[in-house]
Amino acid sequence: MFTITTQDDRHLAVKPMNCPCHVQIFRQGIKSYRDLPLRMAEFGSCHRYEPSGALHGIMRVRAFTQDDAHIFCTEDQITSETVAFCHLLKEVYQDFGFTDVRVKFSDRPAKRAGSDETWDKAESALLEAARAAGLETVLNPGEGAFYGPKLEFVLRDAIGRDWQCGTLQVDFVLPERLDAAYVAEDGSKKRPVMLHRAILGSFERFIGILIENFSGRFPLWLAPVQVVVTTIVSDADDYAREVQAALRAAGLRAELDLRNEKINYKVREHSVAKVPVLLVVGKREAENRAVAIRRLGGSDQEIVALDQAVATLAKESAPPV
Ligand code: ZN
Repeated sequence: MFTITTQDDRHLAVKPMNCPCHVQIFRQGIKSYRDLPLRMAEFGSCHRYEPSGALHGIMRVRAFTQDDAHIFCTEDQITSETVAFCHLLKEVYQDFGFTDVRVKFSDRPAKRAGSDETWDKAESALLEAARAAGLETVLNPGEGAFYGPKLEFVLRDAIGRDWQCGTLQVDFVLPERLDAAYVAEDGSKKRPVMLHRAILGSFERFIGILIENFSGRFPLWLAPVQVVVTTIVSDADDYAREVQAALRAAGLRAELDLRNEKINYKVREHSVAKVPVLLVVGKREAENRAVAIRRLGGSDQEIVALDQAVATLAKESAPPV
């Protein structure tokens, strides 16, 4: 999906993008209450013409990707869907090392669609759901989307700036506008409620916060390059290639450094690049089918048999489940 938004929307940290498309998919074929909740997710490209002064590294860019999703549900399901979403979000954030997440509740803005009655319903449903999910919310008056109130999940970066990442928005308006309906248990036609949600928000921004939060020292499972295999002498080149192949076969992101440089120089360079693990090989390691493991920040190295090193690193690099 591809959407261009205007500068007027830029205060909305998350802009509806694939929303109408997902409603159209929902409308293909009459839905029964039995089909609900219906959840649709995708990674959507979003383009926003930010003024150049507002651009900020990868934290605020003009083209970004959002983990966008919509949940179509009955009014009765708003609470359980919100609780499920909050648990999922918490789990994902925890995996990335974020435990301190603040939540803002943004209510009706001055410029909005839908009747006051609809807004009353949407706001109280979302607040009740937030409470059921055990969230403490801070009121962010007038900052809701034009179509509904929202919860905003805010992460603080390493230097104390707040960035909105995840969001959940209750929308009674769009299903009405696009005439989405389902058949209720009693046979009557009813409007579904639409929940717009994102966990990471903008991938670019989330990656920026991650880099800052870890000061570039990613945990092994997250590091772009997990291991560099480097040689002390060129006699060990063939063996180093073999080591890299073994690491790659075990699913590790392993690079090779065969440059004809002093080993201390190479070690320092990869330390500056914050590569978590260096495997140093020389003639002796090649003869013994071993590797010297040096970990980022550690001063000593450990000589380990190749098979054992690969098995250990493969285990350590497994992403959280
Ligand atoms: Zn949406």
